[in-house]
Amino acid sequence: MTTPPIGKSEERPLRVAVVGAGPSGYYAVAALLDAAGLHVAIDVFDRLPAPFGLVRYGVAPDHQKIKLVSRVFEKAARDPRVRFFGNVDFGRDLSRDDLLALYDTVIYAVGAQSDRRMDIPGEDLDGSWSSTEFVAWYNGHPEFAGADYPLHHRQVAIVGIGNVAMDCARLLARPAADLATTDIADGALEVFRRSRVTDVWVLARRGPAQAACTPPELKELGELDDVDVLVDAAQLDDPAMAGEPDRQTVKNLEVFRELAERGDRGMARRIRFRFLVSPVRVLGEDGRVAGLEVERNELRAGADGRMRPVGTGDTEVLPVTAVIRAIGYRSLPLPGVPFDDRHSVIPNQRGRVVDPERGEALPREYVVGWAKRGPSGLIGTNKPDSQETVETLLADLAAAEPPLAAEPATAAEPAMAEPRGGGPAAVAELLERRGVAYVDYEAWQCIDRAELRRGEASGRPRVKLCRADEMLAAVAAERQPVDT
Ligand code: NAP
Repeated sequence: MTTPPIGKSEERPLRVAVVGAGPSGYYAVAALLDAAGLHVAIDVFDRLPAPFGLVRYGVAPDHQKIKLVSRVFEKAARDPRVRFFGNVDFGRDLSRDDLLALYDTVIYAVGAQSDRRMDIPGEDLDGSWSSTEFVAWYNGHPEFAGADYPLHHRQVAIVGIGNVAMDCARLLARPAADLATTDIADGALEVFRRSRVTDVWVLARRGPAQAACTPPELKELGELDDVDVLVDAAQLDDPAMAGEPDRQTVKNLEVFRELAERGDRGMARRIRFRFLVSPVRVLGEDGRVAGLEVERNELRAGADGRMRPVGTGDTEVLPVTAVIRAIGYRSLPLPGVPFDDRHSVIPNQRGRVVDPERGEALPREYVVGWAKRGPSGLIGTNKPDSQETVETLLADLAAAEPPLAAEPATAAEPAMAEPRGGGPAAVAELLERRGVAYVDYEAWQCIDRAELRRGEASGRPRVKLCRADEMLAAVAAERQPVDT
């Protein structure tokens, strides 16, 4: 009996597992669905019961319009060729070997779950927080539902001047009433309502011309009610700040100038930009943050022309009692999957996972998004990035035909026999055998409806269920047979 080629017929579609239901994962799904002549069956796994990753748990609650991008992902998720398995933890509930045995191809789309550290004394004091966790908390991420960020501090420092820093500064400074009409986590809304924050310091180790934030996000700070944004005009005119005059820089400098001209208007809260400073020590008192020591920097051009901060030895202490580091995300290794520690990515060539020791591509494993290229770019950046990986995957599939259909890829690989791992029902059976309460797309829609109903009742876009058990209870409640 001959084995039908993979991906050429409905009887033998290309079976793909996507690990991670965020933007990069669903952009890869969409690219596979659009591939001409390809028959595909895709299972998307996520450790959380809810799909859409950073759209739900990263985009700030007062940026509802950005969240509309999830419509693209919902369309892909509703396609009959696509299934969702939420609440399934890769490495615990399913291993790399399981997926390689059950699917033709695995795409890792796990993003960057952790953050970079400042590596300075005092970083772990009470009141020194990671922006990754702070953002996850106010967005109702189940793993941070119990976290505690008491905003009884008056002065808070944010280290870094990227868009995550802008999000944190905006949320800390803006009136809580603005947040009450968003999908911010209920617990976080209460904390913001009681917040005593008056001054938010945004600390950049380089100058305004090197700010990583994008102009709309910067401009938005100047539009907040009852908030002054303070920028030292002298720092904007310093010739050492010049350089890298791309469009973003020119626009950012324009916005900084407007803010500097406006100055202090005596508003209730202030966002204070400080350039050319690096934190060197978090000061503590009784285990809590009691100040932040910063060193002034000068800029020097490196051999590559990039302006680098160089400490002058001149220090000062900022009177803050909380510090949020927003200096970039970091991917974490996945059990059994190659990882490049230095760059915090899964090593790859155009999305094809590479074994770093042998320098060879691993057959059947691919990567997209932040785990592929590092934590940079906006949500839309993931579209071409995922398309590139899917092109690589399809080129490999085409190059492997016809042998891929009949032969094992390498001696160590399981044979590409038909059906690989027992067909479409196999993964659900395996999860059920392991007692994993997975959430399929219909179950997610029950959760979604429950949240939308709660939102409607309180004039908000949705009121999120912030714990996995609450989400599972919402599914059970909707599926319960109604007594007649
Ligand atoms: P980011 O854009 O890479 O910014 C990181 C910031 O931290 C930079 O200002 C960087 O300064 C600084 N930094 C790094 N190491 C530091 C250190 N040791 N000490 C002091 N400062 C340090 O990262 P992000 O803000 O986490 O954002 C990640 C990605 O998500 C970005 O592409 C961002 O645009 C995107 N995002 C978009 C939105 C939105 O569209 N609204 C919202 C959130 C995030 P240097 O430049 O000197 O390295």
